[in-house]
Amino acid sequence: MRDGYERNITYLRLSVTDLCSLRCRYCMPPKGVPKRDHGDICSVEELVEIARAAADCGVRKVRLTGGEPLVRRGILDICRGVAAIPGVEELCLTTNGLALPQLAEPLREAGVSRLNVSLDTLRPDRYAYMTRGGRLEEAFRGLEAAAAAGFTGTKLNVVLMKAFNEDEIPDFVSLARRYPIEVRFIELMPIGEGGTAQFLPAQAVPDACPELCPIEGSGVARRYRSPGGRGTVGLIEPMSHRFCARCDRIRVTADGKLKPCLHSDQEISLRGLRGEALRESVRAGAAAKPERHHMNETGRSQAGRNMHQIGG
Ligand code: SAM
Ligand code: SF4
Repeated sequence: MRDGYERNITYLRLSVTDLCSLRCRYCMPPKGVPKRDHGDICSVEELVEIARAAADCGVRKVRLTGGEPLVRRGILDICRGVAAIPGVEELCLTTNGLALPQLAEPLREAGVSRLNVSLDTLRPDRYAYMTRGGRLEEAFRGLEAAAAAGFTGTKLNVVLMKAFNEDEIPDFVSLARRYPIEVRFIELMPIGEGGTAQFLPAQAVPDACPELCPIEGSGVARRYRSPGGRGTVGLIEPMSHRFCARCDRIRVTADGKLKPCLHSDQEISLRGLRGEALRESVRAGAAAKPERHHMNETGRSQAGRNMHQIGG
Protein backbone atom coordinates (compact mmCIF):
# COMPACT_ATOMS: atom_id res chain seq x y z
CA MET A 1 0.00 0.00 0.00
CA ARG A 2 1.84 3.12 -1.26
CA ASP A 3 0.94 6.68 -0.36
CA GLY A 4 1.27 9.69 -2.63
CA TYR A 5 4.95 10.13 -1.70
CA GLU A 6 6.14 6.61 -2.49
CA ARG A 7 6.13 5.53 1.15
CA ASN A 8 5.14 1.91 1.76
CA ILE A 9 2.50 1.83 4.51
CA THR A 10 2.95 -1.34 6.57
CA TYR A 11 2.25 -0.27 10.16
CA LEU A 12 -1.11 0.29 11.89
CA ARG A 13 -1.44 1.94 15.29
CA LEU A 14 -4.83 0.92 16.60
CA SER A 15 -6.24 2.66 19.65
CA VAL A 16 -8.55 0.47 21.71
CA THR A 17 -9.72 3.05 24.28
CA ASP A 18 -9.27 6.70 25.19
CA LEU A 19 -9.53 5.97 28.92
CA CYS A 20 -6.47 5.63 31.16
CA SER A 21 -5.40 4.67 34.66
CA LEU A 22 -3.01 7.67 34.82
CA ARG A 23 -3.31 11.40 34.10
CA CYS A 24 0.09 12.35 32.66
CA ARG A 25 0.30 16.14 32.58
CA TYR A 26 1.35 16.40 28.92
CA CYS A 27 -1.32 13.96 27.75
CA MET A 28 -4.55 14.01 29.77
CA PRO A 29 -6.70 16.80 31.15
CA PRO A 30 -6.55 16.82 35.00
CA LYS A 31 -10.04 15.37 35.39
CA GLY A 32 -9.48 12.65 32.80
CA VAL A 33 -12.14 12.14 30.17
CA PRO A 34 -15.84 11.43 30.55
CA LYS A 35 -16.58 7.77 29.87
CA ARG A 36 -18.27 7.53 26.49
CA ASP A 37 -21.33 5.50 25.66
CA HIS A 38 -20.45 1.90 24.93
CA GLY A 39 -21.61 2.29 21.31
CA ASP A 40 -19.30 5.26 20.62
CA ILE A 41 -16.22 3.06 20.82
CA CYS A 42 -15.47 0.24 18.37
CA SER A 43 -16.37 -3.23 19.60
CA VAL A 44 -13.77 -6.00 19.82
CA GLU A 45 -15.09 -7.41 16.53
CA GLU A 46 -14.92 -4.04 14.76
CA LEU A 47 -11.33 -3.47 15.86
CA VAL A 48 -10.27 -6.91 14.64
CA GLU A 49 -12.10 -6.33 11.34
CA ILE A 50 -10.27 -3.02 10.85
CA ALA A 51 -6.92 -4.70 11.51
CA ARG A 52 -7.85 -7.48 9.06
CA ALA A 53 -8.71 -4.97 6.33
CA ALA A 54 -5.42 -3.15 6.95
CA ALA A 55 -3.51 -6.44 6.73
CA ASP A 56 -5.31 -7.26 3.46
CA CYS A 57 -4.02 -3.90 2.17
CA GLY A 58 -0.40 -4.62 3.16
CA VAL A 59 -0.05 -3.79 6.86
CA ARG A 60 2.39 -6.20 8.56
CA LYS A 61 2.82 -4.68 12.01
CA VAL A 62 0.03 -3.66 14.40
CA ARG A 63 0.50 -1.74 17.64
CA LEU A 64 -2.35 -1.59 20.16
CA THR A 65 -2.41 1.63 22.11
CA GLY A 66 -4.75 4.14 23.71
CA GLY A 67 -5.40 5.73 26.27
CA GLU A 68 -4.24 2.76 28.27
CA PRO A 69 -4.90 -0.40 26.25
CA LEU A 70 -4.79 -2.63 29.34
CA VAL A 71 -7.88 -0.98 30.86
CA ARG A 72 -9.93 -1.92 27.80
CA ARG A 73 -12.44 -4.68 28.50
CA GLY A 74 -11.77 -7.49 26.03
CA ILE A 75 -8.13 -6.55 25.45
CA LEU A 76 -7.07 -10.21 25.37
CA ASP A 77 -9.76 -11.03 22.79
CA ILE A 78 -8.55 -8.10 20.69
CA CYS A 79 -4.96 -9.39 20.91
CA ARG A 80 -5.95 -12.95 20.04
CA GLY A 81 -8.07 -11.73 17.13
CA VAL A 82 -5.38 -9.46 15.66
CA ALA A 83 -2.53 -11.96 16.20
CA ALA A 84 -4.45 -14.59 14.22
CA ILE A 85 -4.88 -12.38 11.12
CA PRO A 86 -2.92 -13.72 8.13
CA GLY A 87 -0.27 -11.16 7.17
CA VAL A 88 0.16 -9.67 10.67
CA GLU A 89 3.78 -10.52 11.46
CA GLU A 90 4.17 -8.45 14.61
CA LEU A 91 1.68 -7.45 17.30
CA CYS A 92 3.03 -4.85 19.72
CA LEU A 93 1.43 -2.95 22.56
CA THR A 94 2.27 0.37 24.25
CA THR A 95 1.33 0.59 27.92
CA ASN A 96 2.03 2.47 31.14
CA GLY A 97 2.77 -0.98 32.57
CA LEU A 98 0.60 -0.74 35.69
CA ALA A 99 -1.57 -3.74 34.79
CA LEU A 100 1.29 -5.95 33.59
CA PRO A 101 1.57 -7.93 36.86
CA GLN A 102 -1.89 -9.38 36.07
CA LEU A 103 -1.73 -9.28 32.28
CA ALA A 104 1.85 -9.88 31.05
CA GLU A 105 1.48 -13.66 30.81
CA PRO A 106 -2.00 -13.66 29.27
CA LEU A 107 -0.84 -11.04 26.74
CA ARG A 108 2.01 -13.25 25.65
CA GLU A 109 -0.31 -16.23 25.38
CA ALA A 110 -2.70 -14.05 23.33
CA GLY A 111 0.02 -13.42 20.74
CA VAL A 112 1.58 -10.07 21.70
CA SER A 113 5.19 -10.13 20.49
CA ARG A 114 6.67 -7.00 22.08
CA LEU A 115 5.90 -4.27 24.59
CA ASN A 116 6.72 -0.57 24.90
CA VAL A 117 6.41 0.62 28.50
CA SER A 118 6.21 4.35 29.22
CA LEU A 119 8.26 5.66 32.14
CA ASP A 120 9.43 9.28 32.17
CA THR A 121 11.33 9.28 35.45
CA LEU A 122 13.04 6.90 37.88
CA ARG A 123 12.17 9.04 40.94
CA PRO A 124 8.97 8.17 42.85
CA ASP A 125 8.11 11.79 43.72
CA ARG A 126 8.52 12.95 40.12
CA TYR A 127 6.50 9.99 38.81
CA ALA A 128 3.65 10.81 41.20
CA TYR A 129 3.79 14.46 40.08
CA MET A 130 3.91 13.84 36.30
CA THR A 131 1.24 11.12 36.31
CA ARG A 132 -0.88 12.97 38.87
CA GLY A 133 -0.78 10.27 41.51
CA GLY A 134 0.86 7.20 39.96
CA ARG A 135 3.18 4.95 42.00
CA LEU A 136 6.56 4.26 40.44
CA GLU A 137 6.94 0.92 42.21
CA GLU A 138 3.85 -0.34 40.36
CA ALA A 139 5.41 0.56 37.01
CA PHE A 140 8.61 -1.26 38.05
CA ARG A 141 6.54 -4.30 39.07
CA GLY A 142 5.00 -4.18 35.59
CA LEU A 143 8.43 -4.22 33.94
CA GLU A 144 9.51 -7.15 36.09
CA ALA A 145 6.32 -9.02 35.22
CA ALA A 146 6.96 -8.46 31.50
CA ALA A 147 10.45 -9.96 31.80
CA ALA A 148 9.18 -12.86 33.93
CA ALA A 149 6.51 -13.62 31.30
CA GLY A 150 9.26 -13.96 28.70
CA PHE A 151 8.91 -10.66 26.83
CA THR A 152 12.18 -9.66 25.21
CA GLY A 153 13.12 -6.55 23.25
CA THR A 154 11.00 -4.39 25.56
CA LYS A 155 11.31 -0.66 24.92
CA LEU A 156 11.08 2.01 27.58
CA ASN A 157 9.41 5.22 26.29
CA VAL A 158 10.81 8.32 28.01
CA VAL A 159 9.36 11.72 27.03
CA LEU A 160 12.16 14.26 27.46
CA MET A 161 11.21 17.36 29.44
CA LYS A 162 13.37 20.31 30.39
CA ALA A 163 13.51 20.94 34.15
CA PHE A 164 11.79 17.60 34.77
CA ASN A 165 13.88 14.61 33.70
CA GLU A 166 16.82 16.24 31.89
CA ASP A 167 19.09 15.39 34.81
CA GLU A 168 18.03 11.72 34.64
CA ILE A 169 19.35 11.13 31.10
CA PRO A 170 22.52 9.40 32.41
CA ASP A 171 20.43 7.19 34.73
CA PHE A 172 18.25 6.02 31.85
CA VAL A 173 21.31 5.46 29.64
CA SER A 174 22.81 3.42 32.45
CA LEU A 175 19.65 1.23 32.50
CA ALA A 176 20.21 0.52 28.79
CA ARG A 177 23.76 -0.48 29.63
CA ARG A 178 22.75 -2.91 32.36
CA TYR A 179 19.59 -4.46 30.86
CA PRO A 180 18.76 -5.82 27.38
CA ILE A 181 16.16 -3.13 26.68
CA GLU A 182 15.94 -0.14 24.36
CA VAL A 183 15.44 3.17 26.17
CA ARG A 184 13.67 5.46 23.70
CA PHE A 185 13.86 9.15 24.37
CA ILE A 186 10.93 10.94 22.73
CA GLU A 187 10.70 14.66 22.04
CA LEU A 188 7.70 16.33 23.67
CA MET A 189 5.19 17.33 20.99
CA PRO A 190 2.86 20.36 21.19
CA ILE A 191 -0.26 18.24 20.99
CA GLY A 192 -3.13 18.04 23.45
CA GLU A 193 -1.85 19.08 26.86
CA GLY A 194 1.76 19.08 25.65
CA GLY A 195 3.28 22.53 25.21
CA THR A 196 6.59 23.91 23.99
CA ALA A 197 7.95 25.40 27.25
CA GLN A 198 9.43 22.09 28.43
CA PHE A 199 10.67 20.96 25.02
CA LEU A 200 14.15 19.45 25.06
CA PRO A 201 15.80 18.33 21.81
CA ALA A 202 16.78 14.66 21.87
CA GLN A 203 20.31 15.67 20.92
CA ALA A 204 20.61 16.41 24.66
CA VAL A 205 21.04 12.63 25.16
CA PRO A 206 24.28 12.07 23.20
CA ASP A 207 25.45 15.48 24.47
CA ALA A 208 25.00 14.31 28.09
CA CYS A 209 26.48 10.85 27.42
CA PRO A 210 29.33 11.25 24.92
CA GLU A 211 30.36 7.62 25.42
CA LEU A 212 27.31 6.54 23.35
CA CYS A 213 28.31 5.11 19.97
CA PRO A 214 25.94 5.47 17.00
CA ILE A 215 24.64 2.17 15.64
CA GLU A 216 22.26 1.42 12.79
CA GLY A 217 18.91 3.22 13.08
CA SER A 218 15.60 1.40 13.17
CA GLY A 219 12.42 2.75 11.61
CA VAL A 220 12.18 6.39 12.65
CA ALA A 221 14.75 6.12 15.49
CA ARG A 222 18.40 7.17 15.65
CA ARG A 223 20.14 4.57 17.81
CA TYR A 224 23.19 4.27 20.06
CA ARG A 225 24.90 1.76 22.34
CA SER A 226 27.20 2.27 25.31
CA PRO A 227 30.50 0.38 25.02
CA GLY A 228 29.78 -3.11 26.41
CA GLY A 229 26.13 -2.24 26.99
CA ARG A 230 23.47 -4.98 26.92
CA GLY A 231 20.75 -2.70 25.58
CA THR A 232 20.42 0.28 23.24
CA VAL A 233 19.34 3.91 23.30
CA GLY A 234 16.94 5.30 20.69
CA LEU A 235 16.00 8.88 19.86
CA ILE A 236 12.58 9.73 18.45
CA GLU A 237 12.75 13.25 17.08
CA PRO A 238 9.47 14.40 15.61
CA MET A 239 10.42 18.04 16.25
CA SER A 240 14.18 18.33 15.60
CA HIS A 241 14.58 15.93 12.71
CA ARG A 242 11.28 15.33 11.06
CA PHE A 243 10.95 11.64 10.44
CA CYS A 244 8.05 12.10 8.04
CA ALA A 245 10.07 10.87 5.04
CA ARG A 246 10.32 7.45 6.71
CA CYS A 247 6.79 7.38 8.14
CA ASP A 248 5.14 4.05 7.29
CA ARG A 249 2.10 4.24 9.58
CA ILE A 250 -1.58 4.96 9.69
CA ARG A 251 -3.59 5.34 12.89
CA VAL A 252 -7.12 4.39 13.85
CA THR A 253 -8.78 5.91 16.91
CA ALA A 254 -10.93 3.93 19.35
CA ASP A 255 -14.04 5.51 17.79
CA GLY A 256 -13.07 4.15 14.40
CA LYS A 257 -11.54 7.19 12.66
CA LEU A 258 -8.54 6.59 10.42
CA LYS A 259 -5.98 9.38 10.77
CA PRO A 260 -3.57 9.48 7.81
CA CYS A 261 -1.18 11.56 9.96
CA LEU A 262 -1.00 12.04 13.72
CA HIS A 263 -0.72 15.80 13.25
CA SER A 264 -3.46 16.40 10.71
CA ASP A 265 -7.15 16.87 11.52
CA GLN A 266 -8.17 14.75 8.56
CA GLU A 267 -10.16 11.71 9.68
CA ILE A 268 -11.89 8.99 7.67
CA SER A 269 -14.70 7.17 9.44
CA LEU A 270 -14.44 3.40 9.19
CA ARG A 271 -17.46 2.51 11.31
CA GLY A 272 -20.21 0.56 9.65
CA LEU A 273 -17.95 -0.48 6.77
CA ARG A 274 -17.09 -4.07 5.95
CA GLY A 275 -15.32 -6.07 3.26
CA GLU A 276 -14.18 -4.19 0.15
CA ALA A 277 -15.73 -0.89 1.33
CA LEU A 278 -13.59 -1.05 4.48
CA ARG A 279 -10.45 -1.91 2.51
CA GLU A 280 -11.16 0.96 0.09
CA SER A 281 -11.34 3.42 2.99
CA VAL A 282 -8.09 2.08 4.48
CA ARG A 283 -6.36 2.55 1.13
CA ALA A 284 -7.88 6.04 0.79
CA GLY A 285 -6.49 6.88 4.24
CA ALA A 286 -2.99 5.77 3.30
CA ALA A 287 -3.18 7.68 0.02
CA ALA A 288 -4.19 10.83 1.93
CA LYS A 289 -1.02 10.94 4.04
CA PRO A 290 0.47 14.42 3.84
CA GLU A 291 4.13 14.72 2.94
CA ARG A 292 5.01 16.04 6.40
CA HIS A 293 3.67 17.77 9.52
CA HIS A 294 3.93 21.53 10.09
CA MET A 295 4.45 21.69 13.87
CA ASN A 296 7.74 23.50 13.53
CA GLU A 297 6.17 26.31 11.52
CA THR A 298 2.90 26.60 13.48
CA GLY A 299 4.20 25.65 16.96
CA ARG A 300 1.17 23.41 17.41
CA SER A 301 -0.08 20.06 16.14
CA GLN A 302 -3.20 20.26 13.96
CA ALA A 303 -4.36 16.86 15.28
CA GLY A 304 -7.57 18.22 16.82
CA ARG A 305 -7.41 15.60 19.60
CA ASN A 306 -5.25 14.83 22.62
CA MET A 307 -2.72 11.98 22.45
CA HIS A 308 -4.84 9.71 24.66
CA GLN A 309 -7.67 10.10 22.11
CA ILE A 310 -5.46 9.15 19.17
CA GLY A 311 -2.93 6.68 20.49
CA GLY A 312 0.77 7.38 20.80
N1 SAM B 1 -1.01 4.71 27.96
C1 SAM B 1 -0.01 4.14 27.15
C2 SAM B 1 1.36 4.70 27.49
O1 SAM B 1 1.44 5.69 28.19
O2 SAM B 1 2.34 4.10 27.05
C3 SAM B 1 -0.25 4.26 25.68
C4 SAM B 1 -0.78 5.56 25.14
S1 SAM B 1 0.31 6.97 25.30
C5 SAM B 1 -0.66 8.23 24.53
C6 SAM B 1 1.57 6.55 24.15
C7 SAM B 1 2.85 7.34 24.23
O3 SAM B 1 2.59 8.68 23.85
C8 SAM B 1 3.46 7.38 25.62
O4 SAM B 1 4.81 6.95 25.55
C9 SAM B 1 3.41 8.85 25.98
O5 SAM B 1 4.47 9.24 26.80
C10 SAM B 1 3.44 9.51 24.61
N2 SAM B 1 2.93 10.88 24.61
C11 SAM B 1 1.75 11.35 25.07
N3 SAM B 1 1.63 12.68 24.89
C12 SAM B 1 2.78 13.08 24.28
C13 SAM B 1 3.30 14.34 23.83
N4 SAM B 1 2.59 15.46 23.95
N5 SAM B 1 4.53 14.35 23.25
C14 SAM B 1 5.27 13.21 23.11
N6 SAM B 1 4.83 12.00 23.52
C15 SAM B 1 3.60 11.92 24.10
FE1 SF4 C 1 -2.32 7.58 30.09
FE2 SF4 C 1 -0.34 6.99 28.45
FE3 SF4 C 1 -1.49 9.42 28.38
FE4 SF4 C 1 -0.02 8.77 30.49
S1 SF4 C 1 0.71 8.97 28.38
S2 SF4 C 1 -2.09 9.73 30.55
S3 SF4 C 1 -0.39 6.61 30.68
S4 SF4 C 1 -2.45 7.52 27.85
